[in-house]
Amino acid sequence: MFNKKKYTFRGGTHMNEHKDTACLQTIRLPEPATVSIPLSQHIGAHAKPIVQKGDYVKIGQIIGEIESGLGCPVHASVSGTVKEIVTRHNAQGTPIQNIVIENDGLRVQHESIRPRTAPLEEATTEEIIDIVRNAGISGLGGATFPTYAKIQSAIGKAKTVIINCAECEPYITANHRLLLERGQCVIEGLEILMHALQAEEGIFAVEDNKPDAIEFLQKAIASKPKLRVCVMRTKYPQGDERQIVYAIYRKEIPAGKLPADVGCMIVNAETAAAISRAFFRGKPLVSRIVTVAGDCVKEPKNVRAPLGASYREVVEFCGGCIKEPKKLISGGPMMGQAQWDMDAPVTKGTSALLLFSEEYDRINTYHSACLHCGLCVSNCPMHLMPNYLAQYAQARRYDDAAKMDVMSCVECGTCSFNCPAGVQIVQYIRVAKGALRAKR
Ligand code: SF4
Ligand code: SF4
Repeated sequence: MFNKKKYTFRGGTHMNEHKDTACLQTIRLPEPATVSIPLSQHIGAHAKPIVQKGDYVKIGQIIGEIESGLGCPVHASVSGTVKEIVTRHNAQGTPIQNIVIENDGLRVQHESIRPRTAPLEEATTEEIIDIVRNAGISGLGGATFPTYAKIQSAIGKAKTVIINCAECEPYITANHRLLLERGQCVIEGLEILMHALQAEEGIFAVEDNKPDAIEFLQKAIASKPKLRVCVMRTKYPQGDERQIVYAIYRKEIPAGKLPADVGCMIVNAETAAAISRAFFRGKPLVSRIVTVAGDCVKEPKNVRAPLGASYREVVEFCGGCIKEPKKLISGGPMMGQAQWDMDAPVTKGTSALLLFSEEYDRINTYHSACLHCGLCVSNCPMHLMPNYLAQYAQARRYDDAAKMDVMSCVECGTCSFNCPAGVQIVQYIRVAKGALRAKR
């Protein structure tokens, strides 16, 4: 069915994929009565509110704008009245202003949303960057880096644009469904980025556990000689940008450098689709696909949710919980973030909501000192010595950890996942990285 050559990287781990929702059509969440839209859903400066309590807002209207520096504007995801502007704490404890909108259910779209009439060939790089910025698009794979800034930093450097369709974390199938249901939008997004950067080649990097998506893409791009599909061996963390570049080109991105420094720009599949919607239909980013799964969820699903809908509403739409959840994670089980509030809102970074019972909670079930088995070393995709990094962090010898390149750790969690002694390696590494950042 597809080319036998499969791309991969050194290290990493195979794990139970739990991709049970891959065969389920994405379903739109019924209109929530209210949404609570945080003014920071991206890396960079927090947006400032430009609406007030009592204002009427329409879908796609800018309600928060960046005053200066890196960041994305924030848009209303429903039409209705601004009920209040409140400060809420996110999962990291950072206070963030939220604009709460009472939904009138009329789905009134803002006048700025209109389809483009001019062809892509006539668009300039600056125009594309403006469209992506004004649409509030940031990396939807979970990193939430503003996409317009990524394009800017790749100008004159990136000859290849890679669409990251690896989706290597267990449970998450949002990109897989997107490729099957709206694959054309993802292809258009790639072509827009290639045009903006005058890139010579476009690649879809897809893991081999999505044969139907690979088949769709190969057929859809058959007449486009600049585009190709690279089938990646299913292995975690294949979706990490550095592993994608290494798997395809056998090139390592030097520490502290970006994919653009080795000639590539990489964006997630859903981000590419959002770029297409913004460019051709004038639609800003106001919703995203969320995979809802885990042993506590009655009916796991892929849900298209408006930004600002609460986790509770999304989970209830999936039949609610059949067991008491011990852990709620936003994102994948390896790199996602534990959450403490079911009333927290879906944001641009919420690729999944996973609810696990005590049975699935590995923490503290077993724990001993390092056995020096070397498993973490052989599995580390960044070729680090995680065992030593953890020991230095435990001893607060952060400078020694820095000498062993702790800052290159991508926090994939592969080391902790496989450690037979249950050492929480990545947690120690995070502490060391945080301490070094604070010192700098
Ligand atoms: S995998 Fe765990 S036990 Fe083995 S060397 Fe690494 S830290 Fe030590
Ligand atoms: S040390 Fe960092 S990069 Fe290496 S396996 Fe552990 S978390 Fe991943």
